[in-house]
Amino acid sequence: MPADLALVNADIKTMNPHKPFARAVAITGSKIVKVGTNQEVKKLIGDSTQVINLEGKTIVPGLIDTHVHVADFGRCLMWLDLTTAQSIVELQNMVKTKAEQTSAGRWIIGRGWNNNRFKEKRLLNLQDLDAATSNNPVILYHEAAMICAVNSEAMRLAAVTEQTSPPEAGTIDKNPETGKLTGIFRSTATNLIWQVVPEPDIDELTEASALALQKIVEAGITNVHWLVLSEIEFPVIERLYAEGRLLVRVNVVVPEGMMPKATNLQSSNPLLLRVGGVAVYVDGYLDSKTAALFEPYSDEPGNSGKILYAAEALAASVQNVLVAGLQPVIHAMGDKAVDLALKTIEMPHEKTVRFRMEQAALLNQELIQRLMVQDVVVSVQPKVISTEFTVWSATKSLGAQRAKWLHPLKSLLEAGVKVAGGSDCPMEPLNPLLGLQESVLRPSFPEQRLSMEEALRMYTVDGAYCSSEEAIKGSIEEGKLADLTVLSEDPFTVPSDKISTIAISMTIIDGKVAFSRQ
Ligand SMILES: [Zn+2]
Repeated sequence: MPADLALVNADIKTMNPHKPFARAVAITGSKIVKVGTNQEVKKLIGDSTQVINLEGKTIVPGLIDTHVHVADFGRCLMWLDLTTAQSIVELQNMVKTKAEQTSAGRWIIGRGWNNNRFKEKRLLNLQDLDAATSNNPVILYHEAAMICAVNSEAMRLAAVTEQTSPPEAGTIDKNPETGKLTGIFRSTATNLIWQVVPEPDIDELTEASALALQKIVEAGITNVHWLVLSEIEFPVIERLYAEGRLLVRVNVVVPEGMMPKATNLQSSNPLLLRVGGVAVYVDGYLDSKTAALFEPYSDEPGNSGKILYAAEALAASVQNVLVAGLQPVIHAMGDKAVDLALKTIEMPHEKTVRFRMEQAALLNQELIQRLMVQDVVVSVQPKVISTEFTVWSATKSLGAQRAKWLHPLKSLLEAGVKVAGGSDCPMEPLNPLLGLQESVLRPSFPEQRLSMEEALRMYTVDGAYCSSEEAIKGSIEEGKLADLTVLSEDPFTVPSDKISTIAISMTIIDGKVAFSRQ
């Protein structure tokens, strides 16, 4: 029987160690039926076969991102993108155009302006934005996110006046001569305005999430782990599924409190939509110094972070997740939290399940060994790791000795621990190739740099392993799902600092071309 689709003249990195390279692949229905030479695949080409000549382009297994906040990403995409504005006049025109497309009274939200780029070389102010629209409240975030500019309508709705005192650590700018408000809010004061911006309704969030899914396909991602943050996302996911608008395979991960809702989520096609995991938080985050450490933060001797669970309560929570037949996704960032999470995992459990630990950021040799013994998948976001070293300056906050053990990806792999990769989009950019690039470049503690092969494993075979789906996806093998990503260039040969600029030529999901760059 002829194949439905044949991709020929390609440079295929299969990620299957038994047959790492191939030139062509044939697909029938949703499955890969042949991986081999052009001649081998040609035998399966018939009159009904769609043949695509890839002219030497690289094919990798469909990329898996194990950490995306899809709905939030969608919300950000609906915002006005001000990163290109070179002048205040240009920014005003962008706001004016948006106001014409937006019904009166609805908020206009934007992000990414920077006064250093403005030819006027000054901050935005109230008058600038009032001139752009008086019908819509406007809030525009600076590139650094801790500053926003608003118009008079936004301040009226937030009931902010010259008499309003800023919250602790926040600033409401005033003209030093007149004492009048300038429309600039800083740090915690930005919340005075943000708190009156209404949450999107189901219709709005559905459209926003659909847009996010389109961007996800265009980024070469065939399978996303959708980390839910709010209950409103359940009807959104259900609607997208029912309307055939889930463009990629979705593995839903929910916070513990939403587990009952999640188990009600209906899907007759678990290959497309499944509820995979339940997130249980053992500690907070390094950047806010709430991750639980054995020894205090180096630059804050009184603070060692905080464990959020008593040992028995954590064990009970994990047990609940197991009873529901779901995967415990244990968020543990500091070494003390990782140790507690491991103690829970090391208890005897009735059901065998593959545990997943989110972050497992600060480790040591002993913790790595225990992760390996328990077959815990560590889920990381490589761009977040570089941000921790640069923006958060991990070496200062942890001391050089401990910082050495912050996200020691190479040591994890050498010990045999499986590591899955993700983006944490929209906190960091979605681009999975940027994640690959950050993993191989790794400027801090270069001994932890990965090879391209190892980095790619995080987004393919080990991404599949993370959700116990390695038998059906993650590598290009006969019998596996036909999820493939075609790249314009070979990430193994381009200079390491150019990996993120490789274009996605095509995304194939379930044997069908889901995206093709013309
Ligand atoms: Zn996240």
